Amino acid sequence: MQAFEFLTARDASAAITAGAKSSTAQQGASVRFVAGGTTLLDLMKLNVERPGQVVDINRLALDKVEPLAGGGLKIGATVRNSDLANHPVVQHDYAVLSQAILAGASGQLRNMATTGGNLLQRTRCMYFRDSAMACNKREPGTGCSAIDGANRTLAILGTSEHCIATNPSDMNVAMAALEATIHVQGVKGERAIPIADFHLLPGDTPQRETVLEPGDLITHVTLAPPARGNRSFYLKLRDRASYEFALASAAVVVTVEDGRIARARIALGGVGTKPWRSTEAEALLERQPVGEPAFRTAADEALRGARARSQNGFKIELAKRCLVHALKQATQTA
Ligand SMILES: Cc1cc2nc3c(=O)[nH]c(=O)nc-3n(C[C@H](O)[C@H](O)[C@H](O)COP(=O)(O)OP(=O)(O)OC[C@H]3O[C@@H](n4cnc5c(N)ncnc54)[C@H](O)[C@@H]3O)c2cc1C
Ligand code: SF4
Repeated sequence: MQAFEFLTARDASAAITAGAKSSTAQQGASVRFVAGGTTLLDLMKLNVERPGQVVDINRLALDKVEPLAGGGLKIGATVRNSDLANHPVVQHDYAVLSQAILAGASGQLRNMATTGGNLLQRTRCMYFRDSAMACNKREPGTGCSAIDGANRTLAILGTSEHCIATNPSDMNVAMAALEATIHVQGVKGERAIPIADFHLLPGDTPQRETVLEPGDLITHVTLAPPARGNRSFYLKLRDRASYEFALASAAVVVTVEDGRIARARIALGGVGTKPWRSTEAEALLERQPVGEPAFRTAADEALRGARARSQNGFKIELAKRCLVHALKQATQTA
């Protein structure tokens, strides 16, 4: 691991000023915030991340889950994944978020991992994590070892000729279905970014994963009040029952009225280069009678643009079945 300076931020503006000295907030950043450290420290040990300065943000007052005045929830950036998943309001009003977080990692990791860090966790593509291999995300312009290599776990939606890495987060998928808003404080002030606009497709700049600029600190995430009568569910399919990333996952939030879908929000994980919301599938579901035919039509639509590589073609049908099953689970008692 490269030597680095460790600073503890006592207020947000000190953290932002320190972060803004970096020329990028993306891969290759010379200054990095650290929260739980469960992504960052791993990558520093692998020499994938080599910041000269690491700014600890754990002393900032960003660790609360609070109700919003008009309804909805404010989740601080350093709220631990365990605390968020087990929060009574989250369990009751945003069950899909609790389920998604609890489907990830392990108890110990969730006790350390934070909301902000989870939003920014990096891909598990093995070539990205191996500094001996060509990887456009780690070293722009070097090529992508995965496209003709071991790509079984990688993305089929939102890929480019430069990168097919999957966004590995479970929490992000639920946040996408809940249409979360990410609040950022930076040198130019505060911004509220809908999660759909927060993560970027790889295109020809896979090293750039989000819209964050140097110094941008995620302060909190807000969730709108839950839709009346909604039911939600997160289903994660993976190679083993725990401590494993998704091959395919689905987060669904649906409202059923008189046996028909009145409102649907759908996001997929394990298959996209970013948390994959399908507004097209949502539109097809609305006003349809609850049942497998409508669910299957929506699943076909959600995967319509999928592009498989040599080893990950199985994910197309897997993701469709995952979505159909999640919709069945969410609607079966409605
Ligand atoms: C063995 C293992 C298994 C795992 N399995 C799963 C799994 O099944 N599902 C899953 O979803 N995840 C899984 N994870 C990933 C885990 O959820 C993430 O590592 C964790 O959520 C990252 O949060 P953190 O607070 O530790 O981030 P950190 O490592 O502290 O930070 C991650 C990144 O975010 C930046 N950052 C952190 N906070 C802020 C902020 N407030 N503002 C701006 N930038 C910030 C950091 O600079 C860094 O670049 C696993 C991790 C490990 C090690
Ligand atoms: S898929 Fe992306 S992260 Fe993986 S090797 Fe290719 S460029 Fe790198």
